[in-house]
Amino acid sequence: MSRGIEVTEVRVKLASDPDEKLLAYCSVTLNNAIVVKDLKIIQGDETPFVAMPSRKITDKCPRCSAKNHLRARFCNECGTKLKPNRGDVDARGRTKLHFDLVHPIAAEVRDYVHEKIVEAYALEAAKSKSARMQAVNGIAPDDDVSPDVE
Ligand SMILES: [Zn+2]
Repeated sequence: MSRGIEVTEVRVKLASDPDEKLLAYCSVTLNNAIVVKDLKIIQGDETPFVAMPSRKITDKCPRCSAKNHLRARFCNECGTKLKPNRGDVDARGRTKLHFDLVHPIAAEVRDYVHEKIVEAYALEAAKSKSARMQAVNGIAPDDDVSPDVE
């Protein structure tokens, strides 16, 4: 519990390509009341980190006002060539391409939620690894992997 926020469920779906930086998708349930979906667990430099659900930032074509992603070099609607490096730059000088749709303001809530998610991911990754080992050893992996089992 942290400021009355409790993570009551975490669902983890491991990403299929283990070589990618994207390790898994997940959703969290808070207080048995709100589900936040489409979080991503990403391999950081040392430890995995959690990316909140986000969407790509768009801006409007100067000619036809259609919305285009900031990385688009030409307008999707009218084909006008668009300026490179549009959009705001963050503290490290990189263009901000996404913004978070869900954003914990309180640092202790953010840390708590992230910790719970990373824990659930580690558990899921370990299960998947042992299932693969069993498959390699000729033992059928346990099909009955209910997410509700404690
Ligand atoms: Zn256009």
